Amino acid sequence: MGVLINECNRSNCKFCVSSVIITNLKEINDSYGFDIGDKVILLFVERIREQLNKMDFLGRIGDNHFLLITNYNSFESQTSKLKSLFNKCVQKPFILRSGEIYITLDIGVSIYPENGRIVKDLIEAASLAIHNVKNEDWVNISFYSKELSNMIKEKTMMLNLLKKALTKQEFSLSFQPKVNSIDNRLVGAETLIRWNNDVFGNVSPIVFIPLAEENGLINEISKWIICELCSLVDRWKNIGLQYKPVSFNLSPIDFKRDDFISQFLSLISPFDVTGDDVEIEITEGALINNIEAVKNKIDTLKEKGFKFLIDDFGTGYSSLSYLKKLDIDVLKIDRSFIKDYPEKSDGIIARTITGLAKSLQIDVICEGVENEEQIKFLRSIGCNTIQGYYYSKPVSAKEFEKILQRGYLTPHS
Ligand code: C2E
Ligand code: CA
Ligand code: CA
Repeated sequence: MGVLINECNRSNCKFCVSSVIITNLKEINDSYGFDIGDKVILLFVERIREQLNKMDFLGRIGDNHFLLITNYNSFESQTSKLKSLFNKCVQKPFILRSGEIYITLDIGVSIYPENGRIVKDLIEAASLAIHNVKNEDWVNISFYSKELSNMIKEKTMMLNLLKKALTKQEFSLSFQPKVNSIDNRLVGAETLIRWNNDVFGNVSPIVFIPLAEENGLINEISKWIICELCSLVDRWKNIGLQYKPVSFNLSPIDFKRDDFISQFLSLISPFDVTGDDVEIEITEGALINNIEAVKNKIDTLKEKGFKFLIDDFGTGYSSLSYLKKLDIDVLKIDRSFIKDYPEKSDGIIARTITGLAKSLQIDVICEGVENEEQIKFLRSIGCNTIQGYYYSKPVSAKEFEKILQRGYLTPHS
């Protein structure tokens, strides 16, 4: 590439570097064997080569990873040129004795000289761009940009801070009351994690929980959440507060672990905590695969008295058959089904979910409830357990203690 850079400097031209990954090569190797995987690679390379000009360059830099260098005219022409080049490679299957095999590609692209003046920088920029591909097609292309680079740098920095957050004691738990809207009585609460650090301040769990899940940090964080929650519940019970069951959000990654049950039971064992005190919120996505294993885990904890709530119900998978197979206690209607009521929504989905829960004899709770109209509507359809800003935002453990003492809430308290 160095020669090309010199040449481009002399003639004032540009070129672009594409970092190309065959995303499903591992599946192909696993299903058909390495021989077939190797053949697919050879045929793929042939299909690219057929389309290249004399000055273009193609190299393999890893098992499923290639570099392609092509000349560059304009962003528009380059985008359509690369799209058409790679589409031609994947549109038709590779026909081998084992059958027809399709491949999928993720491609990050950088441009000389805008995105780097030396080889290393250009390859790095193209690799960074891959992080931003959207998984929506067989060929997914993303171009490097400064904003993207900043975003990735920020994410990397956040990840480094997240790795230290536990030892630096930067996490805390907050609690959002669950209330019976008929008599305003406190019936429970949801535990929500908070992370505060010197650099980013308060970071939303919507941002850092997925980051922890992607990077193998979630289990350590979840262990901390369970222990911290149990020690608080233990304390509340022992100082004579009238206990109310408090749920926590279980990451699907943790639920899917083979040792989930033993880990959970050993974490709670030092505390005076039972299934009457702590409930488990889990999203639908965690339940649909490997239903037998899921059922086993749920049944084991249910035998010990723990309850399961399905979080964000209705936003994920449409298959409802799992509801009949699994012994679920509560459906939690997602905020998205109530937030636009009454202005932009007639609440039909909240009504349908409540009806479904009733016919399956499962309890129902609605989250994200913010105003009186929503409360009245939910009451009219038979959903009386409410969580949302109408009653209270998530509060600190200390504040929640006071609410436990009082035992009821007034709107916007
Ligand atoms: P989620 O489990 O659906 O939690 C409900 C979210 O809605 C919370 O946001 C809560 O503060 C917010 N919320 C509640 N009532 C209202 C309302 O009336 N209006 C509005 N606008 N928002 C309301 P938060 O605390 O930012 O948590 C976001 C998500 O992060 C949670 O969604 C959950 O998926 C995840 N998360 C939070 N804490 C934990 C945790 O301890 N463990 C795991 N694995 N995930 C967590
Ligand atoms: Ca939740
Ligand atoms: Ca939710």
